[in-house]
Amino acid sequence: MASNAYRNGTSSHKGTIKPLAASNSYNVKSSSIKSRLPPSSNHSPGSAPLRRSNSASFTTAAGGSDGVPGRVRVAVRLRPRNEEECVADADFADCVELQPELKRLKLRKNNWESETYEFDEVLTEFASQKRVYEVVAKPVVESVLDGYNGTVMAYGQTGTGKTFTLGRLGEEDTSARGIMVRSLEEILANVSPETDFVSVSYLQLYMETIQDLLDPANDNISIVEDPKTGDVSLPGATHIEIRDEHNFLELLRIGEAHRIAANTKLNTESSRSHAILMVHVKRSVLSAEDAIPSETDKSSHFAKPPKPVVRKSKLVLVDLAGSERVHKSGSEGHMLEEAKSINLSLSALGKCINALAENSAHVPVRDSKLTRLLKDSFGGTARTSLIVTIGPSPRHRGETASTILFGQRAMKVENMLRIKEEFDYKSLSRRLEIQVDKLIAENERQQKAFDDKVERINLEAQNRISEVERNFADAFEKERLKCQMEYMESVKKLEEKMIENQRRHGCDGFMNDKCNGEGPSFSVVDDVAEVKKLLEKEIHMRKEAEEEVNKLKSQLRQCTDSGEGGDSEILKLQQALADEVHQKKKLEEEMIVLRSRMLQLTFEADQMRRSLRRSGSTNAYGGLESPMSQVRDSLNGHKTPVAALFDQVGLQKILALLESEDVNVRIHAVKVVANLAAEEANQERIVEAGGLTSLLMLLRNYEDETIRRVVAGAIANLAMNEASQELIMIQGGISLLSMTAFDAEDPRTLRMVAGAIANLCGNDKLQAKLRSEGGIKALLGMVRCGHPDVLSQVARGIANFAKCESRASANGIRSGRSVLIDDGALPWIVQNANNDSAPIRRHIELALCHLAQHEVNAKDMISGGALWEVVRISRDCSREDIRSLARRTLNLSPIFRAEMRRLRIEL
Ligand code: ADP
Ligand code: MG
Repeated sequence: MASNAYRNGTSSHKGTIKPLAASNSYNVKSSSIKSRLPPSSNHSPGSAPLRRSNSASFTTAAGGSDGVPGRVRVAVRLRPRNEEECVADADFADCVELQPELKRLKLRKNNWESETYEFDEVLTEFASQKRVYEVVAKPVVESVLDGYNGTVMAYGQTGTGKTFTLGRLGEEDTSARGIMVRSLEEILANVSPETDFVSVSYLQLYMETIQDLLDPANDNISIVEDPKTGDVSLPGATHIEIRDEHNFLELLRIGEAHRIAANTKLNTESSRSHAILMVHVKRSVLSAEDAIPSETDKSSHFAKPPKPVVRKSKLVLVDLAGSERVHKSGSEGHMLEEAKSINLSLSALGKCINALAENSAHVPVRDSKLTRLLKDSFGGTARTSLIVTIGPSPRHRGETASTILFGQRAMKVENMLRIKEEFDYKSLSRRLEIQVDKLIAENERQQKAFDDKVERINLEAQNRISEVERNFADAFEKERLKCQMEYMESVKKLEEKMIENQRRHGCDGFMNDKCNGEGPSFSVVDDVAEVKKLLEKEIHMRKEAEEEVNKLKSQLRQCTDSGEGGDSEILKLQQALADEVHQKKKLEEEMIVLRSRMLQLTFEADQMRRSLRRSGSTNAYGGLESPMSQVRDSLNGHKTPVAALFDQVGLQKILALLESEDVNVRIHAVKVVANLAAEEANQERIVEAGGLTSLLMLLRNYEDETIRRVVAGAIANLAMNEASQELIMIQGGISLLSMTAFDAEDPRTLRMVAGAIANLCGNDKLQAKLRSEGGIKALLGMVRCGHPDVLSQVARGIANFAKCESRASANGIRSGRSVLIDDGALPWIVQNANNDSAPIRRHIELALCHLAQHEVNAKDMISGGALWEVVRISRDCSREDIRSLARRTLNLSPIFRAEMRRLRIEL
């Protein structure tokens, strides 16, 4: 009967199970214990995050910065009976009984006694290769990927399945793949070809000689130990980088073939040599602390950049020589030396493990090459898994027992797992170099682009500047030429005008006298006249200067000529001649004056005579008439006196007298001209002869009331003619009349001015100008005088203006409210609509009718009370035509009609 008591390496059937390791957090109830590796979230650059193991594992590890305690994990695997055993041991039970769920193994001593051993994993004869890999090797491989060293080693008697477990390639049946193939597959699946590096060496250790299975000629490889770190390496071994599965299967095949060949050559069995596959993994990762910023750091833009580190780890897979040699070498008849050699490494391994298991002070690592090579695997920093393989045959019970004991001892070996990580200067510098190069290139590109842009902008700016300069120069030149032309043109015009004036006035002296202002200064602002005056002054001064020069010249001549006396005589004569001419001119003027006075008197007498004749007292003046008639007859024959005056004196001469120095002559001449202008036949001639210009000049230059009155009268007469009206306007007459209207006090003057303006108001073409030059305002202003004659003229002017407006509106030339209303005429019109003076009333009645004809005026007329007046006109006006005009006008206006309806007025 099998005992329930367990023993670990003891043979007491009642013994208890020794705790496997004090530091273990091992849970016997669990079939798998998840590995608890130190926290790490390292990411291999360019690759998927490293896996954390979720697979079944018999590895336990605790965290720690200096290292993680990691006991050597041991699994036992039972090989199924082979054919020979099936026959030979047919009558016998297996020497072991497995309790995989309890991870226990019972080793039968005899039919009634057995010893129980507990392992980290118990794998039955049915365990698949995959499961074996997952529980034995996978945690180690994962550690290797995380940067730890790792060892998977198979220990057991020859023929128990070490090579089957580790080295099967499974080329035909992938489920048969052993730990070597699966480990490499897993490593390759988890590294990044860009940043990580995986290489393998495959070695055989036989009789303390290390042979390179990838290069069999290399058969004496030495072990080198780093004096500082104690790390061992085999620099002489071939390292072949592996990139894919094909690659490493080929290598394993080659290694296997070389192993067989080498053994044949040495006349040994493969079971007497140790095969060691070393997988070197080099990974570039970012250090954990720096790669992941803390919560508080997340907000910071100044988190340290991740620190690149290189992790170098090594996976050592060892297919040991058959363990039976240790015990049976002598008894099996081998040469002692050979046996010693063959087993040296294996027995040294056993000793080391014993020492480690018992915490001995001395561990004889240096006793053999195998123990030196596996220095890190037992008692070192590697994660180590040992699989002990056993056969079922009771015939090999002893071997099986010793194998189990080896495994039990190995389970006591504690390793301290440590990552071997070094700062990756190379990778960092390489990366920085790449980054710097990129930045340099980018900078260069940007600099070039910037330079190009600056150049382009410069060029554009220069082009623009030169274009602007060119345009400016062109425009300047054009403007200069234009100004020059205009200047020359105006000089020419002024010169022409001046010559014309000179021609007209006969002499410069008269002009100068006038310009020098013998008469009173005037306030009329007339630019043209001003300029003209200046120019005249200028020319006069030039002439004077020229005369001066001539004088000097002649003096010079006189000086050079010796005959001085003759010239002075001539000068005197010339002077006398000039005086004579002047005298003659004066006399002529006087004569003309006298004649014109006489004619004026004749004219007046004539009129008086006629009026006397009309009043029936002709005889009373009979005596008077005679001499007058004589004079008249002598002068005019049967013509009118004024017409005779034209013929006798000549219009030019009369007009010349307008500018006489003698005030009386001037006044008289104006009167004559005014009388002449009263006759329509003369008007055109007077204007043509420049009479209008002279009259306006007088109005502008003299404040003398009489002159102004008579001049205004003359202008009023001339203003009856349409052509003259326009000339009056062109020559600034409207402004002059307006100014006079404001200045004058004498009702007679005002009557003349009002008459003149009233005439102009009748010209359709002058409407706008009349208003803009103050004509309307002046006209309305004159009502201040109150004299019926003046008021009558004002009313006539208003009527004329309203008529023209009415015509223009009817023709569609103008629109909008009447200027008269705009200028405030309406109240006066309404006030005087029923004036006692018939002429005033009549004019105003007409004006009202004209204003009323336009709907735009209607509202203002209603509010100003004009409607009442129009209604009155339509009812009471003595003139039938005006009455009916008013009625018609009211009837045509919807606004008036509406208002009348509202006021219940009926026509
Ligand atoms: P070792 O390397 O330990 O000397 P091998 O691996 O060469 O032993 O195995 C010896 C024989 O046993 C081989 O034929 C192998 O196929 C077979 N064998 C070993 N283990 C098993 C197993 N678990 N299942 C089936 N056959 C096995
Ligand atoms: Mg083998």
